[in-house]
Amino acid sequence: MTLSLYDTMSRSKRAFVPRDPQRVTMYVCGPTVYNFAHIGNFRPVVVFDLLFRVLRHQFGDAAVLYAANVTDVDDKINKKAADEGVPISAVTDRYLSAYNADAAALGALKPTFQPRVTETMDAIVEMIGRLIENGAAYAAEGHVLFDTQAFPDYGKLSGRPMDEMIAGARVDVAPYKRHPADFVLWKPSKANEPEWESPWGPGRPGWHIECSAMIEQVLGLPIDIHGGGIDLVFPHHENELAQGCCADKVDTYARFWMHNGFLNMAEEKMSKSLGNVALAHELLQTYPGEAIRWALLAGHYRAPLEWNGELIEQAKRALDRLYQLLVDVGRVAGDKGADVSGPDAAKVEKHLAASGFMAALVDDLNTPSAFSSLFAILNGVRAELMKPDPDWASIADQRAALLKAANLMGFLEQDPNAWFQGAADEGLKAKVEALIAARAEARAAKDWPEADRIRVQLAALNVEVMDGPTGATWRIKEQV
Ligand SMILES: [Zn+2]
Repeated sequence: MTLSLYDTMSRSKRAFVPRDPQRVTMYVCGPTVYNFAHIGNFRPVVVFDLLFRVLRHQFGDAAVLYAANVTDVDDKINKKAADEGVPISAVTDRYLSAYNADAAALGALKPTFQPRVTETMDAIVEMIGRLIENGAAYAAEGHVLFDTQAFPDYGKLSGRPMDEMIAGARVDVAPYKRHPADFVLWKPSKANEPEWESPWGPGRPGWHIECSAMIEQVLGLPIDIHGGGIDLVFPHHENELAQGCCADKVDTYARFWMHNGFLNMAEEKMSKSLGNVALAHELLQTYPGEAIRWALLAGHYRAPLEWNGELIEQAKRALDRLYQLLVDVGRVAGDKGADVSGPDAAKVEKHLAASGFMAALVDDLNTPSAFSSLFAILNGVRAELMKPDPDWASIADQRAALLKAANLMGFLEQDPNAWFQGAADEGLKAKVEALIAARAEARAAKDWPEADRIRVQLAALNVEVMDGPTGATWRIKEQV
């Protein structure tokens, strides 16, 4: 099935054919690690993680190389480190760990490469030197600037005419700039700020050059896909493109440019339970990662997404329905002694194709349509399960198709019973497990009054117990 992707440069949806199907390359601009990341920062993380998964499915896991950078040299980092009286690495290590933990909780696979600016400094200095050699950059007053007049295509990606870019840049044009649109590649550090050696004096790189140097170093030009938030098109990606093409003397920097829409936080629409929580790591204390991931993929990635409490609640309910189906299949199959563990691979594929799931995903990641396909499969299993004499082989195939599709998107990766226990803390879990064990003992000893007493205790904890042939399972009851 051919993957088609919307390309910002050509402003069209095109068939995606990698340069080399054995080596598919993708780069996505990552975080500046100076604080806990906002939920909006995780929209590109989840969107491009989904694309990474689709590419791996299409071309094989080993063929896809995905790099996402970490900006660990920045004014905001310097300020935080100075405020705390610690080296910048203390700040960046702390918030990079938090960022990676949040990304993992949201189901994002680890990128193949996660280059950091502090570890790429030699390549950055070398690339700036090459830009000067190629006549595309100049040194002035301790700075090195990119000469936008040396790149006739400057403005092509964002579609901005040069006079508009000049008007935007005119507000505060540094005297050492030859042209108002020229941008910084290297600059001197202020007193007490970290600095690195360079042929133009000690200092540090501008933001844009890091991505070009990292792409060249870890992936090589041109790459197949360059991604990021829509706010990065200008100036960041426009500048990356200009640097990369002039340094390597190539026409193409990235074959596809992909940008996700904004995540709009409407505070007045936030539910009371959610308050004004905007940090991913706080949201993750209230909601399962899969529910937040689902909410982030609820709209098409190119459209703006209205973020509010109801969106996450809806996502949670959608996942509850899917997990409930898995619980029910297990329970009914257990009751009837049916086996649903051995699906027929060919029939699984047939069910997948009939649901339209892959067709939706390869159509520029149409996630709303892919979610509908999951529910089409769910309805098929439900219908079969309700029959007096269900076709268990068909249920096994459809259930496997549902799991395969959902797993590809990073969902249904938990044990279904554990999903419904998610709202319980560890103390409560331990207490419930102990009560259930005591109840099983009482029942085995035919001590019915004791078993009843424990059942009442469990009900008081808002716990529902379901007895099955392989023992009891439990969940936290829905709050009404
Ligand atoms: Zn970048």
